[in-house]
Amino acid sequence: MHKSQDVLYLSRRQTLMLALAGCSGMAMAMDPTPAEANIFMPSIAEQKKLGEQAAQQILKKYREVNDSRAVRFKRIGHNLVSALSTNDQRTWNFSFHVIESKQVNAFALPGGPMFMYTGLMDRLNNNSEIAGVTGHEMAHVRLQHWAKSYANEQERNLGLSLLLGLTHASSTVQKLASVGDSLYTLHYSRHDERQADEYGLANMVAAGYNPQGMIELFMVLEKLSASNPPAFLSDHPLTSARIADVRRLIQDKYSQDLRRPMSGING
Ligand SMILES: [Zn+2]
Repeated sequence: MHKSQDVLYLSRRQTLMLALAGCSGMAMAMDPTPAEANIFMPSIAEQKKLGEQAAQQILKKYREVNDSRAVRFKRIGHNLVSALSTNDQRTWNFSFHVIESKQVNAFALPGGPMFMYTGLMDRLNNNSEIAGVTGHEMAHVRLQHWAKSYANEQERNLGLSLLLGLTHASSTVQKLASVGDSLYTLHYSRHDERQADEYGLANMVAAGYNPQGMIELFMVLEKLSASNPPAFLSDHPLTSARIADVRRLIQDKYSQDLRRPMSGING
């Protein structure tokens, strides 16, 4: 019963790999990229396209749940979107899906599609905990963490090939050929995790939720990891420094919001 026999389980990277396998014509470097980006950075339009393709693959593999849990997750997700800047709301295509799987997991794909597994949803105790994981995942999307990690890895590969005196072929075909491999090896850095916590926390508080939900979410994951480490933690390692950072942030900026109901002001 508790054993994880879910053969359909895919990590975020495997999901993207799957999408890319059917995506041979994705144009790279055609759209303007953010100022801080290097030449390998997929544009926002490319991120959205990639995310949308991967989302379609997920929805083919898994059964999407349409019961009260889905209604609840969509409501909380939309509350968080409403609390974002107009620019963020215009830029990203957030969508919220609950899928049937015992895995304790949730992830957002580049561009905005987010998936909550029933295995995690059923273990969360209130709306503020759900808002915690949702805000965190949405922050990875808004901060373009996947695209930046991908770009950095490409840059390192280029540096290595120059160092070795190899000719670097910069054709689109060559670049795309290397996307798949890099998706398997990318992990969010500690910096990205902390940044996603910070932005996610600000977002959930702005949407009317109790910031303690983020800490309670960590406690739920930590408790589970003692017996059967949740899949969520392999993509989002939870360190004591991370938890301490969030506690400090709450004390410094959001202590008055700790009086809110755990269901959130807007439910
Ligand atoms: Zn994360």
